[in-house]
Amino acid sequence: MPLADILGHERIVEVLRRSLRTGKTAHSYLFEGVPGCGRKKTALALIQALFCTSAADDACGVCPSCRKVAGGSHPDITLIAPLPDKRDISIDQLRELQRVLSLRPYEAPRKACIIEPAERMSVNAANSLLKTLEEPPGDALMILLTENAGMLLPTIRSRCQLIRFAPLPPEHVMTLLERSGISAGTASLLAPMSGGSMQRAIELDNEALAEKREAVLARLGQMNIKRIATVFDAAEALSGNRDETLELLDLLISFYRDALHLAAGSAEIVNRTVRPAIEAIAGRTPLPRTLELLEAICETRRAVQRNANPKLALDHLFMDIAAA
Ligand SMILES: [Zn+2]
Repeated sequence: MPLADILGHERIVEVLRRSLRTGKTAHSYLFEGVPGCGRKKTALALIQALFCTSAADDACGVCPSCRKVAGGSHPDITLIAPLPDKRDISIDQLRELQRVLSLRPYEAPRKACIIEPAERMSVNAANSLLKTLEEPPGDALMILLTENAGMLLPTIRSRCQLIRFAPLPPEHVMTLLERSGISAGTASLLAPMSGGSMQRAIELDNEALAEKREAVLARLGQMNIKRIATVFDAAEALSGNRDETLELLDLLISFYRDALHLAAGSAEIVNRTVRPAIEAIAGRTPLPRTLELLEAICETRRAVQRNANPKLALDHLFMDIAAA
């Protein structure tokens, strides 16, 4: 992503672009801010701009180099983070980094690395990095990301140019959530609670989605065609406006797809957190019937999209499901 497309950090982008124009980028940066506010995106955009073969102070976005950075496959970029199931970044990881940085770049004018989160370097590991930060081998660009620069050794801080990222304003979180495919209604609920962090907004969305999954499955489990009120009550409770109903139907589609996968002997399902309830659906619904219901849900979705009344459409669909 070019620097010009970074949302919410205009002043920082301006400073970085000026340094690119004048050829005065620092060797080592420390980007401080809440996780999810755009530090890593900006770091990658800076590297992309520095590596770009056709533009001066920003990435063109289309040259082979820009595409490799965007696709996460550029051979001259190293990302350092704690290894899976490890709390800290180890001294071995940083030794290996220094070895890699000392090699000649494959394609780019210089090598680059991002260390995240920098506060997770042990004291020994951090000390091993001091010389590299001061004089990166081969003119490499080092970018350290941290939530709080105060948690780093003063010797690390003093060797880096500190750039402070403010939390994203809620309106930018909203725009970014919508760009990532979250509905406008949900985005407007999540943005004010996100603390200016996209990461937190997405976590909140996942928590809300987990609750929603459980509520929907509980309602489905309570429906009984012999007590028709349970069916209409479920439709009443779960239908909303058009967008909310479409979201519900997407959830139902994912449940029945998962049930289908289980019935076909696959262990991989999307709704892992509610696996027992999905197994119950798969257990009580014969395979051909599951396929019919999946088709019925998709048909209901199309009808709601074409302006069918959400509550009536769900009444109809839920009677079909309860009859299974
Ligand atoms: Zn380019």
